[in-house]
Amino acid sequence: MSIVENYKLLINKINHLSNDVTLICVTKTFSLDVIKPLVDNGHIHFGENKVQEAKNKWLELLKIKPKINLHMLGKVQSNKIDEIVKIFSFVHSLDNEKNSIKFNESEKKFNKKLNYFIQVNIGNELQKSGIQLSLVKDFVKFCKKDLNLNILGLMCIPPFNQNPEIFFSKLYKLNKECDLNNLSMGMSSDYELAIKNGANYVRVGSYIFGSRS
Ligand SMILES: *Cc1c(COP(=O)(O)O)cnc(C)c1O
Repeated sequence: MSIVENYKLLINKINHLSNDVTLICVTKTFSLDVIKPLVDNGHIHFGENKVQEAKNKWLELLKIKPKINLHMLGKVQSNKIDEIVKIFSFVHSLDNEKNSIKFNESEKKFNKKLNYFIQVNIGNELQKSGIQLSLVKDFVKFCKKDLNLNILGLMCIPPFNQNPEIFFSKLYKLNKECDLNNLSMGMSSDYELAIKNGANYVRVGSYIFGSRS
C-alpha cells in the first residue's frame, strides 16, 4: 500500500473510534519526498524529534504553507529552545522547570505562543524522559500560573513490553486531576487503546511510513 493509502486507512480507523482526535504524522527520519503526498493531501500536523532535522526538512515548506503545525516530540535541549519556538507550534516533551522558564523567555522574545504537553514518566522508569509523577501537579500549576504557558495537557510514552492500557488510564486520571482537557498518547502500536482511554492527540509514524531504518 502507498503512504497515502496507509494514511487514509488510519484516518478511517481513528474516526471510527472518535471524531475528536488530532493525528500527528511522525515524520522523523523520512525525507520530504516521502512526506509530501500527505501535505498535498491537506494534512497539517507533523511530528519531529530533532530540531536540526526539522529545520532542514520543513523550513522552506513552512514559508509557503503556514497552516502546517510542527510538533516537537523529542527531548528538549535547553540551548535549542529559541530554535524550537521559531519553527514549532507544539511541544509534547516539556518536563522540567528550567526549560519551561526558557520557553517563556523565548516566547516573549519572538512574540509567539506555543502549545505544550507536559511529558510524564508514567512508568517511573530510570533513564526515561518525563517529569516524575509526584511532581506533575505542581509543575502544571507553575507553568500555567507563573509562566502563563499554554499547557494543553499531559503526554506519555508507556514502558516498553507492558500493557499500555494501565498507563493510559493512569495518565487520563492525572490529567483530569490537573484540570487539563487534552491528552497526547498513542503511537502506531497502541493508538486505538490510547483513544479508548481518552487520547485526543495521537502520534503515529511507522504505521503510515513503514519502519525506520
Ligand atoms: C517516533 C515517535 C512516535 C511515533 O512512533 P511510531 O511507533 O513510529 O508510530 C511517537 N511519539 C514519539 C515521542 C516518538 O518519538
